[in-house]
Amino acid sequence: MGSGEARDPGTGRVIVLGGGISGLLAAWHLRERGREVEVWEASGAPGGWAQTLPWPGPGGEPGFLERGPQGVLVGRDGPLVRLIGELGLTLRGAGPKGPRWLAKAGGRHPSPATPAGLLRAPGLTTPERLRMLAEPFVPCRPDSTEDLRSYFSRRLGDGFVRELLPALVAGVLAAPPERIGLETLPRLRRLEARGGLLIGGLRTGAEHTRVPCAGEACGVGTLAGVLADRLGCVLTNRSARAIETLPGGGWRVHGEDVVGEVDGLVLALPAAVSAALLRPLAPEAAALLDAIPRLDLRVWHSRHAPVPGWERGIGLLVHPPEGRGLLGVASFAADDPRGVPGLFQLRTYLGGAYPVDPELSDWAGVWRELRRWLLELGEPVQVREEACPGAFPLLEPGHGARVARLLAALPPRLHWLGAARFGPGLPDLAEGVEAWARSWPDLGPGPA
Ligand SMILES: Cc1cc2nc3c(=O)[nH]c(=O)nc-3n(C[C@H](O)[C@H](O)[C@H](O)COP(=O)(O)OP(=O)(O)OC[C@H]3O[C@@H](n4cnc5c(N)ncnc54)[C@H](O)[C@@H]3O)c2cc1C
Repeated sequence: MGSGEARDPGTGRVIVLGGGISGLLAAWHLRERGREVEVWEASGAPGGWAQTLPWPGPGGEPGFLERGPQGVLVGRDGPLVRLIGELGLTLRGAGPKGPRWLAKAGGRHPSPATPAGLLRAPGLTTPERLRMLAEPFVPCRPDSTEDLRSYFSRRLGDGFVRELLPALVAGVLAAPPERIGLETLPRLRRLEARGGLLIGGLRTGAEHTRVPCAGEACGVGTLAGVLADRLGCVLTNRSARAIETLPGGGWRVHGEDVVGEVDGLVLALPAAVSAALLRPLAPEAAALLDAIPRLDLRVWHSRHAPVPGWERGIGLLVHPPEGRGLLGVASFAADDPRGVPGLFQLRTYLGGAYPVDPELSDWAGVWRELRRWLLELGEPVQVREEACPGAFPLLEPGHGARVARLLAALPPRLHWLGAARFGPGLPDLAEGVEAWARSWPDLGPGPA
């Protein structure tokens, strides 16, 4: 696909910019449809946030940390589960199965993400508890323009929204519920369409956090690594610097010392990077991309002596603003192959849309805050911070309309994918990219 090659517009050759999970999925689907594809990834490895990085133990033992998700929340079926099967990977349990808590009012309570936790949750009056139990009788009227706060208020009542929802949303999406549009959470919309949270949940089947494994190798990054290997067309350390249209249609992409010419171009990049590339050609699309807020996360990884009772892992969600910027905590289970045997591995999230107290600017402050909620935890034997600037796009209410305007403002034969379009969850990305590939409107049918 170099500039020296003759370009044949009939073959439908494509460059995908960005080798994160969105770009890899896009390349996979295009390849399946007979396209000649190349992926340009700016960094030294594929996967983007979905990478499992080596983090040796104190004695140099093999150990790992997840740069982004610790696992993927999946049910029995769906595009991501099917792809994992096609790649010959297996899925093993990864979510904490031990105690899960809500940190609130200076104490620890059962997590409201479990039925027992919901019923015993602090701060709710008896009518508010009954209102939650009445959820199956609430009429279903899916409304994609709602924000998360109004959705849950309608389904579970104001007590749930006041006392429990902020921690649940902060621990997953790092922002207050009123700042997040429902339209970007296909799972919640689907549940409502199928009868509500409880009934729809029963109909859809349980979802669990699982981690992809290839033999002994486990980690979310395994999925990206195996996808990239199977594709065989992922070029790392290749950053796109500029793009331009070619006279007969098609695209020229400029890297540092290399130029590629293709019929179609896919941007699977952070919104700000896509905006910078598009600005000279499509200023309206660039402005719309620039307007999508990004959330910065700070993630601390720490290893500690094992704590009796926590062998199956723990989870803690903090009711904002009580954590002063600390949003949640999750651990590996003792038998997780990514952990170092004999040590308890924790990860602590801070920031997102919430201001972080200056006292929590270093590990000493984070540690003091952690000990408010996790008294059993001993001093760490290892600590490492992984800053995640621009970790999540903030998909505000009205985001769907913004995306529609953006898609209309893109030049022909240029596609835009990623978390800012489909939502940050890997299953949502897999579903969105698969649907996009099925439509593939402007490159013709491709070779049979
Ligand atoms: C701490 C954290 C926790 C998370 N937890 C979960 C979770 O529990 N469950 C879940 O489903 N999701 C979770 N996510 C979200 C999920 O990881 C992301 O939404 C997803 O990985 C985004 O994939 P992407 O390919 O769209 O973008 P990215 O991963 O951002 O990939 C974009 C790629 O483009 C490359 N790039 C940038 N500029 C250029 C250029 N000029 N040229 C070429 N390449 C370029 C980058 O190097 C990068 O590899 C989490 C994310 C973080 C950070």
